[in-house]
Amino acid sequence: MVDSTQRAIHPEPVQPAGLLEVALQNLSLGLTIFDDKRAILFCNRRYMEIYGLSPEQVKPGTLLKDMIQHRLNLGLKISVPSEEYIREHIGTALQAGTTVQEFTDGRIIAYTIYPMPNGGGMATHEDITAREEMSARLQRQYEVGKAQEEDLRIRHFQFDTAINNMSQGLCFFDAAHRLIVCNDRYIDMYDLSHDRVGPGTALTEIVDMRFEAGSFPAMTREEYLIWRANVAVSAEPTDSIVELRNGRTFKIRHRPMPDGGWVATHEDITEQRRSEVKIEYMAHHDALTDLANRVLLNERLEHALGARIHREEIVAVHHLDLDHFKAVNDTFGHPAGDKLLKLVADRLRGLVRASDTIARMGGDEFVIVQAPIKDPSEATSLAERIIRSIGEPFEIDGHQAVIGASIGIAVGPGDGLRPDRLLRNADLALYRAKGDGRGVFRFFQPAMDLQMQTRRLMEQDLRKALSSGEFELYYQPVVNLASNEVSGFEALIRWNHPQHGLVSPGTFIPLAEEIGFIVPMGEWVIREACATAAKWPGDARVAVNISAVQFRNPGLLQVIVGALAASGLHPARLEIEITETVLLQNKEATLAVLHQLRGLGVRIALDDFGTGYSSLTYLQSFPFDKIKIDRSFVKDITENSGSLNIVRAVAALASGMGMTATAEGVETREQLDSITSEGCTEMQGFLFSKPLPAREIERLFLPEREVQPAPNRIVAA
Ligand code: C2E
Ligand code: MG
Ligand code: MG
Repeated sequence: MVDSTQRAIHPEPVQPAGLLEVALQNLSLGLTIFDDKRAILFCNRRYMEIYGLSPEQVKPGTLLKDMIQHRLNLGLKISVPSEEYIREHIGTALQAGTTVQEFTDGRIIAYTIYPMPNGGGMATHEDITAREEMSARLQRQYEVGKAQEEDLRIRHFQFDTAINNMSQGLCFFDAAHRLIVCNDRYIDMYDLSHDRVGPGTALTEIVDMRFEAGSFPAMTREEYLIWRANVAVSAEPTDSIVELRNGRTFKIRHRPMPDGGWVATHEDITEQRRSEVKIEYMAHHDALTDLANRVLLNERLEHALGARIHREEIVAVHHLDLDHFKAVNDTFGHPAGDKLLKLVADRLRGLVRASDTIARMGGDEFVIVQAPIKDPSEATSLAERIIRSIGEPFEIDGHQAVIGASIGIAVGPGDGLRPDRLLRNADLALYRAKGDGRGVFRFFQPAMDLQMQTRRLMEQDLRKALSSGEFELYYQPVVNLASNEVSGFEALIRWNHPQHGLVSPGTFIPLAEEIGFIVPMGEWVIREACATAAKWPGDARVAVNISAVQFRNPGLLQVIVGALAASGLHPARLEIEITETVLLQNKEATLAVLHQLRGLGVRIALDDFGTGYSSLTYLQSFPFDKIKIDRSFVKDITENSGSLNIVRAVAALASGMGMTATAEGVETREQLDSITSEGCTEMQGFLFSKPLPAREIERLFLPEREVQPAPNRIVAA
């Protein structure tokens, strides 16, 4: 077989074997055929090209072993020693299969063995360097691609995660109003279905879903679509706040895209809105009563006055002040006071119409804007109802509290076109109502304005008077009826006003009390009286009037002690006169001060007795040294048996309790006889002497001895 085959495929131009050889020679694969001895029978040109062999080197009969050696010489990369490699490839039985050989020059050549039944075989060799490179490149590309794909996948994932974890809803729509993408939040915010919303969903479909879900503003579907389309076509970024029927409030930021689509973010600002509304509410309401505060009142009043201009309507402003509220606060405590204010607010609410506004101005002051009304009589009617209602007892924690209301009314536009003017005039009217005895209402009158201006001028003058030395003390003698001797003098302040001349205390003391000026003024009186009396011979007393406002000042005791020390006046020669109103307020603290003064030896007199409400209770609460029976009883003692009886009873009471009973304002002989026979022990009045300046007193009543120069006389500060 070897011979015939050898001949048959020998490269001789023989037909048809010649044709086959031509074909074999021109194969793109290298080809070798060998016998069972592994000796070459045939090899083609491509084989020689691949391994750089000459025809001589591959002539039939050449052993494959030499061929392998040749390849090793060419730089075949092997992992075992050469001999072993050759042995492995030649010594064993032929195995079908492909082997890839790599050469040091970078070439890669694969050969495939096809064993033949006679023990020989055939092998094809192919230079696969280019293919391998291509495949490696492809592999690399594949890997890069894969990496990029992974990268993209990660990016997508990150993007998805980002947009789906945004607190805002996000959606992109294209120019055809179809959804490109939206996040989960968007779907959830509008209660849409995740299954029905995705890329390509039309805006109209989403609108329908929202309409069903109620996540829709208070407009029709068509109105909404028109609005949305307008926003969509406008090339302007638009921010809108939309309130949905389901109670949520969303802020939508619409940003157009150059291609006609848009991106929009949807933010749920419901909570923010609610707290804004709450803050807004708090800024306009009184926390305790929930009524309007000053700010809201001004707005409402402004609005009422503005709205009125077009119609024949008027606006009434009621300025209301509770009477005796302070007493409730002091007696039952602040929490009870707060409850009372709430109850008052409730009663007021029940008296007004929806168009009226009730405001708390702070403390126990309220303002009611009654608008609109046609006639002032409507204001009268409301004021009367308020006074009646607030005058009814209140039940607080099981206690009954009785208060009242005083009201000042100003009616716009006549009494003022602006809120501040109307409020001020209502306040002036209130001042009058309180002055007129409380529990009443007064309409503003222009004269009140004038009075207020006069008052303001007096206030200014008063503040200057002290430093300018315009005050002076007059003294009125008090006569002991048993001995017929002057037992002391009551110090009474006078104001030498540079323009108005001598002003009596009745004119300026109430104002001084109201503005707190009574405190420094009273201090001057105490020091001046002590200093003057200290110069007097003998043991004549000096009486000083101290008002309730002075008792509210914690420094009072110190002032009295300081005046005694500075003047050197013996405390037993000082008498202080207080009225029942002093005991009405802060009773414990007041009594403590009185006891301390009493402990020093200072005498305490109860002035104007009989004019207050519950005189006898107060007599029990402190052991007074003296009761001064008010002038009003003395005045008509001769004509009015009631007055006579009172004087008699008080004198008896005083005697029984070891107190002096002094009758004030004795002007006539008859009055003197009456009070003497009824048991009064002292008198004071024009019958004996008017109040006089100190030097007159010294000249007329203290002539026996020279007036002593005072040791530490203090001049007014
Ligand atoms: P008061 O303490 O009751 O003083 C007696 C008032 O009656 C004095 O009025 C006195 O001038 C007046 N008076 C005395 N005798 C007669 C009389 O026979 N007929 C008449 N018609 N009046 C008589 P005045 O000085 O105008 O003082 C009025 C009130 O002003 C005093 O009443 C007292 O409450 C208060 N006051 C006077 N000075 C001071 C002061 O320095 N401090 C304080 N806190 N109050 C003072
Ligand atoms: Mg007095
Ligand atoms: Mg008096």
